[in-house]
Amino acid sequence: MKKFLAIFIIILIIAATVSWLVYFFGHANKTTASDMDNVAVAAAVAVQPEPTERIERITIPAGSTYADLMTMSGLSYGTAMAVHDAALELYDLANVRAGRELELVYEKINDNFKELRYQIDTEETLFVRAATSTENGAMWVAERAAIPYEVKVKIYHGQVETSMYAYALENDIDERAIIALADAFQWSIDFAMDPRVGDTFDFAVEERYLDGKYVMPGQLLAGRYVNNGEVFEVYYFEESETNIGFFDTDGNSVQKMFLKAPVAFKYISSGFTTGARYLEAFNISTGHRAIDYAATYGTPIRATGDGTVTFAGWNSQGYGNMVSVRHNGTYSTNYAHMSKVAVKRGNKVKQSDIIGYVGSTGLSTGPHVHYEMVKNGVKINPLNEVLPPGEPIKAENRERFEGEKARLQTLLDL
Ligand SMILES: [Zn+2]
Repeated sequence: MKKFLAIFIIILIIAATVSWLVYFFGHANKTTASDMDNVAVAAAVAVQPEPTERIERITIPAGSTYADLMTMSGLSYGTAMAVHDAALELYDLANVRAGRELELVYEKINDNFKELRYQIDTEETLFVRAATSTENGAMWVAERAAIPYEVKVKIYHGQVETSMYAYALENDIDERAIIALADAFQWSIDFAMDPRVGDTFDFAVEERYLDGKYVMPGQLLAGRYVNNGEVFEVYYFEESETNIGFFDTDGNSVQKMFLKAPVAFKYISSGFTTGARYLEAFNISTGHRAIDYAATYGTPIRATGDGTVTFAGWNSQGYGNMVSVRHNGTYSTNYAHMSKVAVKRGNKVKQSDIIGYVGSTGLSTGPHVHYEMVKNGVKINPLNEVLPPGEPIKAENRERFEGEKARLQTLLDL
């Protein structure tokens, strides 16, 4: 009997020690988390109710899968699968992207996992929440919700000293906003060839904030670029549900049959200054009937217009890897010295589709795109080619457009 009592007491002591240890470590963890939570919100709210949840934020490491992340967090396979399955119709968590944040929310009182949050893209967050708790675990309910940004309209004015991009960097303008501005003009201005010292630009852009902190540019609303005295303007306008975009001052869509350059602004913007972003211009007297755009090795080259690939491969006359696109009975374009060709003969391509990558193959001294435009069999200067304007706004939407344009012009002039 005494022996049993002794064993019983030992068991009691062990149990007490274990529960104390569990309490101690559990409490230690919770204290740390709670202190952090309090620090995070202290600045915003002076008197703060005790937080009821603990949030674990995981920045998704490269190469890790949803299953890895769940295992790492200590969630059971069953819970991880139930959450995945509940979300599947709205978002497949197997596609979580490296670098993004995943938030796991736990009930503070018992450390039960109750919610997963994942920012799908710049617009939406996925929530998967425990709706009811049962003996066998929770029922999970998924929701996609727009990120509740606070939007402010900001107006910028600038002047080109070396380049629009350089001006943006020196004046703390978000480079993403400058890229959006340049892209709105990509059918009318070649930012590698056209800019001049003294060019000016103005633009109005929505800026997105979360909890008072700047996050990213939103919609570009209006832009004006004065190039060598010539004024170009773009206005964002929703003509209909299917026709949303930029229109010029005459109410024509800014989109035209050809982009001005085969390399996007974002790839030629950095590291180059006005007049030095191209190697060689179109010049009949030297026989260079093309424009050479300098760009880093591997930069994507895009088709400047819709068409059909008529050549893709090696050209032994010095062009190296080359692609030719036939746009219609009148125009075709050639792109030479590629490091890699990304299309095949016969492929249909859309404007802006990637057809290859910048290289220095054939007779070339450094990485660049040699871009030719051929009209009725003759090589012409693409920058001098006057193309028909884009699709005009419909008559019934004209008044609404003029009203919106006037409002946006007032912003640009502020
Ligand atoms: Zn060339």
